[in-house]
Amino acid sequence: MIDRAAEMEAVADQVLICQKCDLSKTRTKAVPGYGDINAEILLIGEGPGFHEDKQGLPFVGRSGDYLDKLLAMIGLNRKQVFITNVVKCRPPENRDPTPDEILACKPYLDTQEMMIDPMIIVTLGRFSMARYFPGGKITQIHGKPKFDERVAYYPLFHPAAVLRNPTLQETMAQDVMRIPQIIEEVKKRRAASENNGDSTPEQADSSELPKSGGSPTQLSMF
Ligand code: SF4
Repeated sequence: MIDRAAEMEAVADQVLICQKCDLSKTRTKAVPGYGDINAEILLIGEGPGFHEDKQGLPFVGRSGDYLDKLLAMIGLNRKQVFITNVVKCRPPENRDPTPDEILACKPYLDTQEMMIDPMIIVTLGRFSMARYFPGGKITQIHGKPKFDERVAYYPLFHPAAVLRNPTLQETMAQDVMRIPQIIEEVKKRRAASENNGDSTPEQADSSELPKSGGSPTQLSMF
C-alpha cells in the first residue's frame, strides 16, 4: 500500500533541491505546496511570485489574503485544502513560465494530484487551466465544472487578476460558492460508479448542478 504522506514529503524534498530547469538558478526558495494531503479541494495556481519565493509558501501577500477570504466563504481555511502551482519556482520578474519549465515540473504536480486524489481540482489562472482545458478561454469557461469519474475540474479566475479588475469580484465569489455543490456531485458520481462497478468516465454536464449563488455548506474532510 502506498504511504501517501511519505510520497508527498518525498515530492517536497525533491522540489526543494530540484535543478531540472533554469528557474532553480534564480529562485530564493522553491515552493512545493501547502495544506492537507487529505483535502477534498486541490487548488493549482501558476507559479510563485515575489513573496512566495521569499517565504517558500504558495499564495501569500495580497493574492493569498484574497484567496483566504474566498475559502472562508465556503467555511474553509487553507489548512483544509491543498494549494500548489504548475511550476514550483518563481519565474524571474514574474514572467510567464515557459512550456519547457512547465513540462520539467509536471511530474511533481502529477504525483501530488495522484496522492491527494481530490474531489475537485480548482485551477487559478491560465497555466493550470491549460492542463485540464487545453485551448479554453477563462472568460468563457470560468465557473463551469468538467466531471471525470472521480473528480471535477473547475476553472476560476486567478485571484491576482480579480484584484486588478474588481468588477470580477462578484463573479469570482459566485464561482467559489458553487464548490460545495460540485463536491457533492462528485461524491454521488463516485458512489454510483462504485455501486455499478462501472469504471467508465462520465462526461461533464454542468447543467445538472444548481446555479451559482446557492447556500454554501461546511465541507467534510475524508
Ligand atoms: S520549477 Fe520545477 S522543475 Fe524547475 S527547478 Fe523548480 S521544481 Fe525543478
